[in-house]
Amino acid sequence: MSNVAHLLNRQNFTFVKHDVVEPFPEIEADLVFNLACPASPVFYQSDPIKTAKTAAFGTLNGLEFAKRSAAQFFQASTSEIYGDPEVHPQPETYQGNVSTTGPRACYDEGKRFGESLCFDFHRMSGLEIKVVRIFNTYGPRMQVADGRVVSNFIVQALRGDPITIYGDGSQTRSFCYVSDLIDAFLAVSETPKGETGPFNIGNPEEITVLELATHILDTIGEPEKLVFVDAAKDDPQRRKPDISKVTATTGWQPQVGLRAGLDATIEYFRTAIMLSERPTPIARPSWTVA
Ligand code: UDP
Repeated sequence: MSNVAHLLNRQNFTFVKHDVVEPFPEIEADLVFNLACPASPVFYQSDPIKTAKTAAFGTLNGLEFAKRSAAQFFQASTSEIYGDPEVHPQPETYQGNVSTTGPRACYDEGKRFGESLCFDFHRMSGLEIKVVRIFNTYGPRMQVADGRVVSNFIVQALRGDPITIYGDGSQTRSFCYVSDLIDAFLAVSETPKGETGPFNIGNPEEITVLELATHILDTIGEPEKLVFVDAAKDDPQRRKPDISKVTATTGWQPQVGLRAGLDATIEYFRTAIMLSERPTPIARPSWTVA
């Protein structure tokens, strides 16, 4: 709620508390953005059945709501639909390498099913859809205890705690700053009706987890204190978006490099840590040491 506190007094803003797993209340819309699902592995794996329901029934209910309102339905899908990719970087045409039985399946398969629902609504009833696949995004307003790598490393470094590397840290990610992501959302949303996507959205600047840790420690001015713990099961080893499709269609490209984005995020977390209850433990997945 603190993330929308500054909007609550606006006349054109209404907050409706509703679980998307249940059918939507009778409200009208022109445009529906469906971002409803935890995206941090720690959170989506803590209640996997609820995650699967949110991705499946939540998307279905959102699509039915959009159809009733003749609204555009904008689906936040994910790079996780590529699983542990065998193609690098990942273009939208790559079909993925996803475990159907592992701990990430609730999210990966849920999001894959969400995409298939969107395209069936589009084919069967002409619903206007836009599907984007978000690659790792970070920035201000993340939770201190979010559990994902950027927030964990910054919070650990600011507290002088050791940084937890899952595995040997050679796995890569490509991190997109949140304002770039939102710009891309709006650009995709404004494309002509037939442009359904899917579109990859992310920043192709690839970095290993170990390099990220070192960079954050250097920026904060902390000595290198790393702790290596068990690798996460089915952890994708390399991830980098091919964004040529969205750039060709909308002209969008990320504007905020990793250094600038991390600087702004570190400043945000300095305050967020002070405001949060002490000590707020960072969320730990079940596979790591306590
Ligand atoms: N990771 C890590 N330490 C942490 C959190 C994450 O080494 O404290 C690694 C994780 O194993 C993965 C990468 O960082 O290889 C990105 O993880 P994150 O949870 O941010 O998102 P994912 O891309 O896996 O969904």
